[in-house]
Amino acid sequence: MLSVYKKNNSISELFGNEKTYLKTILESQPNGIFVVDTESLSIVDTNSYTVKKTGFSEISVIGYPVSKFLILPENEEYFVDGNRKFECSIKTFNGECIPVFVTTSFMILDRRKYQIFNFVDITQIKEKMCEQQKYIRDLEESIEYKNLFADILRHDLLNPAGLVKGFTQLLLDMEKNSRKVSILEKVQHHSEKLISIIESASRLSRLESTGKLELEKMDMVPIIEQVVDDFKYQTDKNQMNVEIRADRCCPAFANDIIEDVFSNLLSNAIKYSPENSQVTIDVQDAGDFWKVSFIDSGEGINDRDKNRLFERFERVDKNNINGNGLGLAIVKKIIELHNGDIGVKDNPEGQGSIFWFTVMKA
Ligand code: ADP
Repeated sequence: MLSVYKKNNSISELFGNEKTYLKTILESQPNGIFVVDTESLSIVDTNSYTVKKTGFSEISVIGYPVSKFLILPENEEYFVDGNRKFECSIKTFNGECIPVFVTTSFMILDRRKYQIFNFVDITQIKEKMCEQQKYIRDLEESIEYKNLFADILRHDLLNPAGLVKGFTQLLLDMEKNSRKVSILEKVQHHSEKLISIIESASRLSRLESTGKLELEKMDMVPIIEQVVDDFKYQTDKNQMNVEIRADRCCPAFANDIIEDVFSNLLSNAIKYSPENSQVTIDVQDAGDFWKVSFIDSGEGINDRDKNRLFERFERVDKNNINGNGLGLAIVKKIIELHNGDIGVKDNPEGQGSIFWFTVMKA
Protein backbone atom coordinates (compact mmCIF):
# COMPACT_ATOMS: atom_id res chain seq x y z
CA MET A 1 0.00 0.00 0.00
CA LEU A 2 3.06 2.26 0.02
CA SER A 3 1.99 3.94 -3.19
CA VAL A 4 -1.47 4.62 -1.77
CA TYR A 5 0.20 6.93 0.70
CA LYS A 6 2.28 8.55 -1.98
CA LYS A 7 -0.68 9.49 -4.14
CA ASN A 8 -3.55 9.75 -1.66
CA ASN A 9 -2.77 11.62 1.46
CA SER A 10 -6.28 10.96 2.70
CA ILE A 11 -5.29 7.58 4.09
CA SER A 12 -1.90 8.66 5.25
CA GLU A 13 -2.91 8.54 8.87
CA LEU A 14 -2.18 4.82 8.80
CA PHE A 15 0.91 4.15 10.79
CA GLY A 16 4.03 2.37 9.59
CA ASN A 17 3.02 -0.95 11.13
CA GLU A 18 -0.39 -0.88 9.47
CA LYS A 19 1.19 -0.07 6.11
CA THR A 20 3.45 -3.06 6.38
CA TYR A 21 0.51 -5.14 7.49
CA LEU A 22 -1.64 -4.18 4.46
CA LYS A 23 1.23 -4.58 2.01
CA THR A 24 1.98 -8.01 3.44
CA ILE A 25 -1.65 -9.01 2.86
CA LEU A 26 -1.46 -7.83 -0.77
CA GLU A 27 1.83 -9.60 -1.37
CA SER A 28 0.64 -12.85 0.18
CA GLN A 29 -2.28 -13.16 -2.25
CA PRO A 30 -1.93 -16.07 -4.70
CA ASN A 31 -3.45 -13.83 -7.40
CA GLY A 32 -2.93 -10.45 -9.00
CA ILE A 33 -4.44 -7.26 -7.60
CA PHE A 34 -5.08 -3.75 -8.93
CA VAL A 35 -6.38 -1.27 -6.36
CA VAL A 36 -8.02 1.54 -8.37
CA ASP A 37 -9.14 4.91 -7.07
CA THR A 38 -12.67 5.38 -8.43
CA GLU A 39 -12.21 9.15 -8.69
CA SER A 40 -8.89 9.40 -10.52
CA LEU A 41 -9.55 6.03 -12.21
CA SER A 42 -5.89 5.18 -11.83
CA ILE A 43 -4.20 2.27 -10.15
CA VAL A 44 -2.98 3.09 -6.67
CA ASP A 45 -1.46 -0.23 -5.75
CA THR A 46 -0.67 -3.69 -7.03
CA ASN A 47 1.29 -6.74 -5.90
CA SER A 48 4.22 -8.92 -6.98
CA TYR A 49 1.96 -11.60 -8.57
CA THR A 50 0.85 -8.88 -11.04
CA VAL A 51 4.45 -7.83 -11.66
CA LYS A 52 5.46 -11.48 -12.22
CA LYS A 53 2.56 -12.23 -14.58
CA THR A 54 2.65 -9.04 -16.66
CA GLY A 55 6.37 -8.28 -16.68
CA PHE A 56 5.60 -4.61 -15.88
CA SER A 57 7.43 -3.13 -12.90
CA GLU A 58 5.34 -1.75 -10.04
CA ILE A 59 6.14 1.87 -10.98
CA SER A 60 5.01 1.36 -14.57
CA VAL A 61 1.62 0.13 -13.25
CA ILE A 62 0.85 2.57 -10.44
CA GLY A 63 -0.72 5.82 -11.54
CA TYR A 64 -1.95 4.40 -14.85
CA PRO A 65 -5.54 3.57 -15.81
CA VAL A 66 -6.52 -0.04 -15.25
CA SER A 67 -7.74 -0.24 -18.87
CA LYS A 68 -4.09 -0.12 -19.95
CA PHE A 69 -3.68 -3.62 -18.50
CA LEU A 70 -7.06 -5.33 -18.25
CA ILE A 71 -8.93 -5.80 -21.55
CA LEU A 72 -12.57 -6.32 -20.61
CA PRO A 73 -15.16 -8.14 -22.73
CA GLU A 74 -17.59 -5.87 -24.60
CA ASN A 75 -20.43 -6.43 -22.13
CA GLU A 76 -18.38 -5.42 -19.05
CA GLU A 77 -17.55 -1.99 -17.73
CA TYR A 78 -14.61 -1.07 -15.53
CA PHE A 79 -16.52 0.60 -12.75
CA VAL A 80 -19.88 -0.77 -11.70
CA ASP A 81 -21.20 -1.01 -8.15
CA GLY A 82 -21.33 -4.45 -6.62
CA ASN A 83 -19.08 -7.46 -6.84
CA ARG A 84 -18.59 -9.05 -10.24
CA LYS A 85 -16.88 -12.09 -11.74
CA PHE A 86 -15.86 -12.39 -15.38
CA GLU A 87 -13.22 -13.64 -17.75
CA CYS A 88 -11.01 -11.23 -19.64
CA SER A 89 -7.39 -10.85 -20.63
CA ILE A 90 -4.42 -8.96 -19.30
CA LYS A 91 -1.71 -7.31 -21.40
CA THR A 92 1.90 -8.16 -20.66
CA PHE A 93 5.04 -6.12 -21.12
CA ASN A 94 5.84 -8.27 -24.21
CA GLY A 95 2.52 -7.34 -25.82
CA GLU A 96 0.96 -10.75 -25.20
CA CYS A 97 -2.51 -11.24 -23.77
CA ILE A 98 -3.00 -13.74 -20.94
CA PRO A 99 -6.50 -15.05 -20.14
CA VAL A 100 -7.49 -14.20 -16.56
CA PHE A 101 -10.50 -14.65 -14.31
CA VAL A 102 -11.39 -11.42 -12.51
CA THR A 103 -13.43 -10.74 -9.38
CA THR A 104 -14.12 -7.14 -8.44
CA SER A 105 -15.03 -5.65 -5.10
CA PHE A 106 -15.12 -2.24 -3.43
CA MET A 107 -13.30 -0.89 -0.45
CA ILE A 108 -13.91 2.43 1.30
CA LEU A 109 -10.93 3.81 3.09
CA ASP A 110 -11.03 7.22 4.70
CA ARG A 111 -14.13 8.19 2.69
CA ARG A 112 -12.43 7.35 -0.58
CA LYS A 113 -13.78 4.54 -2.70
CA TYR A 114 -11.46 2.00 -4.29
CA GLN A 115 -12.32 -0.75 -6.69
CA ILE A 116 -10.22 -3.87 -6.35
CA PHE A 117 -9.61 -6.01 -9.41
CA ASN A 118 -8.49 -9.42 -8.27
CA PHE A 119 -7.30 -11.67 -11.09
CA VAL A 120 -5.91 -15.14 -11.56
CA ASP A 121 -4.12 -16.54 -14.61
CA ILE A 122 -6.33 -19.18 -16.27
CA THR A 123 -4.02 -20.05 -19.18
CA GLN A 124 -3.62 -23.65 -17.99
CA ILE A 125 -7.35 -24.08 -17.36
CA LYS A 126 -8.06 -22.70 -20.86
CA GLU A 127 -5.52 -25.10 -22.38
CA LYS A 128 -7.10 -28.01 -20.51
CA MET A 129 -10.54 -26.90 -21.71
CA CYS A 130 -9.27 -26.79 -25.31
CA GLU A 131 -7.84 -30.30 -24.90
CA GLN A 132 -11.16 -31.48 -23.46
CA GLN A 133 -13.13 -29.85 -26.27
CA LYS A 134 -10.89 -31.57 -28.81
CA TYR A 135 -11.36 -34.85 -26.94
CA ILE A 136 -15.17 -34.37 -27.01
CA ARG A 137 -15.07 -33.59 -30.75
CA ASP A 138 -12.96 -36.72 -31.39
CA LEU A 139 -15.33 -38.75 -29.24
CA GLU A 140 -18.38 -37.43 -31.11
CA GLU A 141 -16.68 -38.28 -34.38
CA SER A 142 -15.90 -41.82 -33.25
CA ILE A 143 -19.50 -42.26 -32.01
CA GLU A 144 -20.67 -41.17 -35.46
CA TYR A 145 -18.40 -43.79 -37.05
CA LYS A 146 -19.67 -46.40 -34.59
CA ASN A 147 -23.30 -45.56 -35.44
CA LEU A 148 -22.48 -45.65 -39.14
CA PHE A 149 -20.87 -49.05 -38.71
CA ALA A 150 -23.89 -50.29 -36.70
CA ASP A 151 -26.21 -49.11 -39.50
CA ILE A 152 -24.07 -50.87 -42.09
CA LEU A 153 -24.21 -54.02 -39.97
CA ARG A 154 -27.98 -53.83 -39.60
CA HIS A 155 -28.96 -52.83 -43.11
CA ASP A 156 -26.21 -53.84 -45.48
CA LEU A 157 -24.65 -57.00 -44.07
CA LEU A 158 -27.61 -58.83 -42.58
CA ASN A 159 -29.53 -59.12 -45.88
CA PRO A 160 -26.70 -60.67 -47.96
CA ALA A 161 -25.80 -62.98 -45.06
CA GLY A 162 -29.46 -64.10 -44.91
CA LEU A 163 -29.44 -64.69 -48.68
CA VAL A 164 -26.28 -66.84 -48.45
CA LYS A 165 -27.98 -68.94 -45.78
CA GLY A 166 -31.21 -69.27 -47.84
CA PHE A 167 -29.46 -70.24 -51.08
CA THR A 168 -27.23 -72.70 -49.24
CA GLN A 169 -30.34 -74.37 -47.83
CA LEU A 170 -31.74 -74.52 -51.40
CA LEU A 171 -28.56 -76.18 -52.69
CA LEU A 172 -28.56 -78.58 -49.72
CA ASP A 173 -32.12 -79.65 -50.55
CA MET A 174 -31.09 -80.40 -54.17
CA GLU A 175 -27.70 -82.00 -53.50
CA LYS A 176 -27.23 -85.77 -53.22
CA ASN A 177 -23.43 -85.99 -53.33
CA SER A 178 -22.37 -86.54 -49.69
CA ARG A 179 -19.05 -84.67 -50.05
CA LYS A 180 -20.81 -81.61 -51.48
CA VAL A 181 -23.52 -81.87 -48.81
CA SER A 182 -20.85 -81.81 -46.11
CA ILE A 183 -19.25 -78.69 -47.66
CA LEU A 184 -22.63 -76.97 -48.00
CA GLU A 185 -23.42 -77.78 -44.36
CA LYS A 186 -20.19 -76.03 -43.36
CA VAL A 187 -21.15 -72.99 -45.45
CA GLN A 188 -24.56 -72.96 -43.81
CA HIS A 189 -23.10 -73.34 -40.31
CA HIS A 190 -20.76 -70.39 -40.87
CA SER A 191 -23.42 -68.21 -42.44
CA GLU A 192 -25.61 -68.85 -39.38
CA LYS A 193 -22.68 -67.88 -37.17
CA LEU A 194 -22.17 -64.72 -39.25
CA ILE A 195 -25.86 -63.79 -38.90
CA SER A 196 -25.71 -64.36 -35.14
CA ILE A 197 -22.64 -62.10 -34.83
CA ILE A 198 -24.22 -59.35 -36.94
CA GLU A 199 -27.46 -59.50 -34.95
CA SER A 200 -25.71 -59.51 -31.56
CA ALA A 201 -23.23 -56.77 -32.52
CA SER A 202 -25.97 -54.47 -33.78
CA ARG A 203 -28.10 -55.21 -30.67
CA LEU A 204 -25.15 -54.40 -28.39
CA SER A 205 -24.34 -51.23 -30.32
CA ARG A 206 -27.99 -50.09 -30.07
CA LEU A 207 -27.99 -50.83 -26.32
CA GLU A 208 -24.73 -48.95 -25.81
CA SER A 209 -26.15 -45.84 -27.38
CA THR A 210 -29.32 -46.16 -25.23
CA GLY A 211 -28.91 -43.85 -22.25
CA LYS A 212 -32.01 -44.97 -20.39
CA LEU A 213 -34.66 -47.69 -20.59
CA GLU A 214 -38.36 -47.22 -19.83
CA LEU A 215 -38.97 -49.42 -16.78
CA GLU A 216 -42.42 -50.62 -15.82
CA LYS A 217 -43.83 -52.95 -13.22
CA MET A 218 -43.81 -56.55 -14.46
CA ASP A 219 -43.83 -60.00 -12.93
CA MET A 220 -40.58 -61.92 -13.52
CA VAL A 221 -42.16 -65.36 -13.07
CA PRO A 222 -44.17 -65.62 -16.34
CA ILE A 223 -41.14 -64.31 -18.24
CA ILE A 224 -38.94 -67.04 -16.75
CA GLU A 225 -41.59 -69.70 -17.49
CA GLN A 226 -41.87 -68.51 -21.09
CA VAL A 227 -38.09 -68.57 -21.60
CA VAL A 228 -37.82 -72.06 -20.08
CA ASP A 229 -40.55 -73.19 -22.46
CA ASP A 230 -38.72 -71.62 -25.43
CA PHE A 231 -35.67 -73.79 -24.61
CA LYS A 232 -37.71 -76.98 -24.14
CA TYR A 233 -36.42 -78.44 -27.41
CA GLN A 234 -32.77 -78.11 -26.32
CA THR A 235 -33.36 -79.26 -22.74
CA ASP A 236 -35.37 -82.30 -23.90
CA LYS A 237 -32.67 -83.10 -26.46
CA ASN A 238 -29.97 -82.99 -23.77
CA GLN A 239 -32.24 -84.65 -21.21
CA MET A 240 -31.77 -81.71 -18.89
CA ASN A 241 -34.10 -80.54 -16.18
CA VAL A 242 -34.76 -76.85 -15.53
CA GLU A 243 -36.14 -76.07 -12.10
CA ILE A 244 -37.64 -72.67 -11.25
CA ARG A 245 -37.39 -71.66 -7.58
CA ALA A 246 -39.35 -68.45 -7.10
CA ASP A 247 -42.28 -66.94 -5.22
CA ARG A 248 -45.61 -67.16 -7.02
CA CYS A 249 -45.18 -63.55 -8.12
CA CYS A 250 -41.96 -61.51 -8.34
CA PRO A 251 -42.89 -57.97 -9.48
CA ALA A 252 -39.94 -55.89 -10.67
CA PHE A 253 -39.28 -52.58 -12.45
CA ALA A 254 -38.10 -53.82 -15.81
CA ASN A 255 -38.21 -53.39 -19.54
CA ASP A 256 -39.38 -56.16 -21.91
CA ILE A 257 -35.77 -56.49 -23.04
CA ILE A 258 -35.03 -58.25 -19.71
CA GLU A 259 -36.26 -61.41 -21.44
CA ASP A 260 -32.97 -61.37 -23.41
CA VAL A 261 -31.10 -61.66 -20.10
CA PHE A 262 -33.07 -64.73 -19.05
CA SER A 263 -32.76 -66.42 -22.44
CA ASN A 264 -29.03 -65.66 -22.75
CA LEU A 265 -28.19 -66.97 -19.29
CA LEU A 266 -30.38 -70.06 -19.72
CA SER A 267 -28.94 -70.71 -23.17
CA ASN A 268 -25.39 -70.57 -21.72
CA ALA A 269 -26.30 -72.76 -18.75
CA ILE A 270 -27.62 -75.38 -21.20
CA LYS A 271 -24.73 -74.97 -23.70
CA TYR A 272 -21.98 -75.29 -21.12
CA SER A 273 -23.49 -78.12 -19.03
CA PRO A 274 -23.37 -81.84 -19.65
CA GLU A 275 -26.37 -83.91 -20.69
CA ASN A 276 -28.63 -85.23 -17.94
CA SER A 277 -27.73 -82.33 -15.65
CA GLN A 278 -29.91 -79.86 -13.85
CA VAL A 279 -30.17 -76.08 -14.26
CA THR A 280 -31.89 -74.09 -11.50
CA ILE A 281 -33.28 -70.60 -11.88
CA ASP A 282 -33.54 -69.21 -8.39
CA VAL A 283 -35.22 -65.88 -7.55
CA GLN A 284 -34.43 -64.63 -4.05
CA ASP A 285 -35.75 -61.68 -2.10
CA ALA A 286 -32.75 -59.34 -1.58
CA GLY A 287 -34.36 -56.34 0.13
CA ASP A 288 -35.08 -53.71 -2.51
CA PHE A 289 -34.03 -56.12 -5.27
CA TRP A 290 -34.72 -59.57 -6.60
CA LYS A 291 -31.56 -61.62 -6.95
CA VAL A 292 -31.90 -64.02 -9.86
CA SER A 293 -29.38 -66.88 -10.14
CA PHE A 294 -28.82 -69.38 -12.91
CA ILE A 295 -27.16 -72.39 -11.28
CA ASP A 296 -25.63 -75.06 -13.48
CA SER A 297 -23.39 -78.03 -12.94
CA GLY A 298 -21.25 -77.57 -16.01
CA GLU A 299 -17.49 -77.34 -16.10
CA GLY A 300 -17.41 -73.97 -14.31
CA ILE A 301 -15.20 -70.96 -14.94
CA ASN A 302 -11.66 -70.21 -13.76
CA ASP A 303 -11.35 -67.33 -11.31
CA ARG A 304 -9.03 -65.42 -13.69
CA ASP A 305 -11.70 -65.55 -16.44
CA LYS A 306 -14.71 -64.61 -14.33
CA ASN A 307 -14.54 -60.82 -14.86
CA ARG A 308 -13.48 -60.72 -18.48
CA LEU A 309 -16.37 -62.95 -19.64
CA PHE A 310 -18.63 -59.91 -19.50
CA GLU A 311 -16.42 -58.07 -22.01
CA ARG A 312 -17.14 -58.22 -25.72
CA PHE A 313 -15.85 -61.21 -27.70
CA GLU A 314 -14.40 -62.96 -24.63
CA ARG A 315 -14.71 -66.72 -24.94
CA VAL A 316 -12.83 -69.30 -22.93
CA ASP A 317 -11.60 -72.20 -25.05
CA LYS A 318 -15.05 -73.37 -26.08
CA ASN A 319 -13.98 -74.27 -29.58
CA ASN A 320 -16.58 -76.94 -30.16
CA ILE A 321 -19.50 -74.95 -28.70
CA ASN A 322 -21.31 -72.40 -30.84
CA GLY A 323 -21.18 -68.82 -29.69
CA ASN A 324 -19.88 -65.37 -30.54
CA GLY A 325 -18.73 -64.03 -27.16
CA LEU A 326 -21.24 -61.16 -27.20
CA GLY A 327 -24.08 -62.67 -25.16
CA LEU A 328 -22.75 -61.78 -21.70
CA ALA A 329 -21.71 -58.27 -22.83
CA ILE A 330 -25.34 -57.71 -23.94
CA VAL A 331 -26.67 -59.18 -20.68
CA LYS A 332 -24.38 -56.92 -18.63
CA LYS A 333 -25.44 -53.83 -20.57
CA ILE A 334 -29.15 -54.64 -20.12
CA ILE A 335 -28.69 -55.14 -16.37
CA GLU A 336 -26.74 -51.87 -16.11
CA LEU A 337 -29.64 -50.11 -17.84
CA HIS A 338 -31.89 -51.62 -15.13
CA ASN A 339 -29.55 -50.23 -12.42
CA GLY A 340 -28.80 -53.76 -11.29
CA ASP A 341 -25.63 -55.73 -10.58
CA ILE A 342 -24.36 -58.83 -12.28
CA GLY A 343 -21.71 -61.42 -11.52
CA VAL A 344 -20.61 -65.01 -11.63
CA LYS A 345 -19.36 -67.35 -8.92
CA ASP A 346 -18.64 -71.03 -8.46
CA ASN A 347 -21.51 -73.34 -7.70
CA PRO A 348 -20.84 -74.23 -4.04
CA GLU A 349 -22.51 -77.60 -4.54
CA GLY A 350 -19.60 -79.01 -6.52
CA GLN A 351 -19.09 -78.39 -10.22
CA GLY A 352 -20.57 -75.57 -12.25
CA SER A 353 -21.20 -71.87 -11.99
CA ILE A 354 -23.82 -69.45 -10.80
CA PHE A 355 -24.54 -66.43 -12.99
CA TRP A 356 -26.56 -63.93 -10.96
CA PHE A 357 -28.06 -60.48 -11.43
CA THR A 358 -30.27 -58.12 -9.47
CA VAL A 359 -33.36 -56.23 -10.60
CA MET A 360 -35.29 -53.62 -8.63
CA LYS A 361 -38.47 -54.81 -6.91
CA ALA A 362 -41.73 -53.08 -7.81
P1 ADP B 1 -20.88 -67.21 -26.15
O1 ADP B 1 -21.67 -66.86 -27.33
O2 ADP B 1 -19.48 -67.60 -26.42
O3 ADP B 1 -21.59 -68.18 -25.25
P2 ADP B 1 -21.19 -65.34 -24.01
O4 ADP B 1 -20.82 -63.91 -23.96
O5 ADP B 1 -22.59 -65.71 -23.73
O6 ADP B 1 -20.72 -65.83 -25.43
O7 ADP B 1 -20.26 -66.10 -23.00
C1 ADP B 1 -18.87 -65.79 -22.97
C2 ADP B 1 -18.08 -66.98 -22.49
O8 ADP B 1 -18.41 -67.23 -21.12
C3 ADP B 1 -18.41 -68.27 -23.18
O9 ADP B 1 -17.68 -68.39 -24.38
C4 ADP B 1 -18.01 -69.29 -22.14
O10 ADP B 1 -16.61 -69.46 -22.20
C5 ADP B 1 -18.31 -68.61 -20.83
N1 ADP B 1 -19.59 -69.02 -20.23
C6 ADP B 1 -20.77 -68.37 -20.29
N2 ADP B 1 -21.73 -69.00 -19.58
C7 ADP B 1 -21.13 -70.09 -19.05
C8 ADP B 1 -21.58 -71.16 -18.20
N3 ADP B 1 -22.84 -71.22 -17.75
N4 ADP B 1 -20.68 -72.11 -17.85
C9 ADP B 1 -19.39 -72.05 -18.27
N5 ADP B 1 -18.91 -71.06 -19.09
C10 ADP B 1 -19.76 -70.11 -19.45
